[in-house]
Amino acid sequence: MYHPAAAKPADYESFPYLRRGTDFPAVELSDPSARRSRFTAEADEDRIERLLAENVTISFHDHPQLLPADVADMPAFLRSKHEFTAFTELRRSGLTAVFDNWFGVIGSTRRAGWKWDDLITTLGLRLADLAHQDGAVVARTVRDILDAKRDGHVAFVLGTESAGMIENDLDRIDVLYGLGIRQMGLVYAETNTLGSGQKEQHDGGLTAFGRRAVERMNAVGMLIDVSHASDRTSLDAIEASVKPVAITHAGARAVWPITRMKPDDVLRACAERGGVLGIEAAPHTTVSYDHRAQSIESVMDHFTYAVELMGIEHVAFGPDTLYGDHASFQKAIGDVIGSSRVFDAGDLEWERVSHVDGLENPTENFRNIAGWLVEHGYRDDEIAAVLGGNILRLLNEVWR
Ligand SMILES: [Zn+2]
Repeated sequence: MYHPAAAKPADYESFPYLRRGTDFPAVELSDPSARRSRFTAEADEDRIERLLAENVTISFHDHPQLLPADVADMPAFLRSKHEFTAFTELRRSGLTAVFDNWFGVIGSTRRAGWKWDDLITTLGLRLADLAHQDGAVVARTVRDILDAKRDGHVAFVLGTESAGMIENDLDRIDVLYGLGIRQMGLVYAETNTLGSGQKEQHDGGLTAFGRRAVERMNAVGMLIDVSHASDRTSLDAIEASVKPVAITHAGARAVWPITRMKPDDVLRACAERGGVLGIEAAPHTTVSYDHRAQSIESVMDHFTYAVELMGIEHVAFGPDTLYGDHASFQKAIGDVIGSSRVFDAGDLEWERVSHVDGLENPTENFRNIAGWLVEHGYRDDEIAAVLGGNILRLLNEVWR
């Protein structure tokens, strides 16, 4: 639905310097405060609020953007490259920092993944928007995150889901670092010049160019993420990297047997080399044998398994959520980039959900996670570690 270039509704806080309907399509956006989720932790609320207030809390992967209210508006919204962020809602989340990966794998100008120009354009627009926001900063160093905590700001760590946009040019890694990007996925579901993706039937692992890219990322101080990389590519990258490698958003294949989850050997190798796993919570990912309708309970089945396998100092949360109808958005992406076998659970029965109860969007995620951890008997120091301490330790090793 298009609106004339009239007054801006309050939710159009992104790009305050642009004219709605004139400078970008005036798509009606979702209500960021709308909730379908019912989960509320019954734990001591004062303790939850204290845990969020006292600790640096970091989402290892989220898309804190607002979706259009009507899914039919998605193509126009994506083509404009103006991704609207729910700044006010995000500030209510208790988060110190969010690894923001935009919607950067969906074609904004074409029916294919991002190209270099898409990335640079979106990055520039994002930085321009952030420059016009009070209380939001771009984090380029660990110090920036700690300062954001002190000042009550939300820090945005800029990242990309894939490194395919560098094509065959290693210097582009430095260019992106120079422009503020601090985390890069090596490969999304589809194979690129760096390695095999999870979509493939044949897993070729990390390419020769991928090895050189890993080396350059190590040298410049870019955090490497293998969330969407194939199993072999993940193992190869962890082995090739002289710095710890992250899996910012995934779960355990032993808990739910789909390609999108990581097998034990990858999780173990990640932890052994000092890496951190962020537990994923996007719809239709972290289902579990015990909870076939995805909710905070099935997501936490992945958490408890990963803690057992990797050690609690190697686990965090990368919920991978957004504001709006996530399940419909997933379908819209699938229509653009093609269906994928990564969610295929074979003959196993499981339930499609309209939202993930308890972990519906970035505002509620960490409050509910803290509540769940309190209810399940975790100590304050353990909760502090998984809410952000583990990621800070990793960044201290990698971002230098
Ligand atoms: Zn992702």
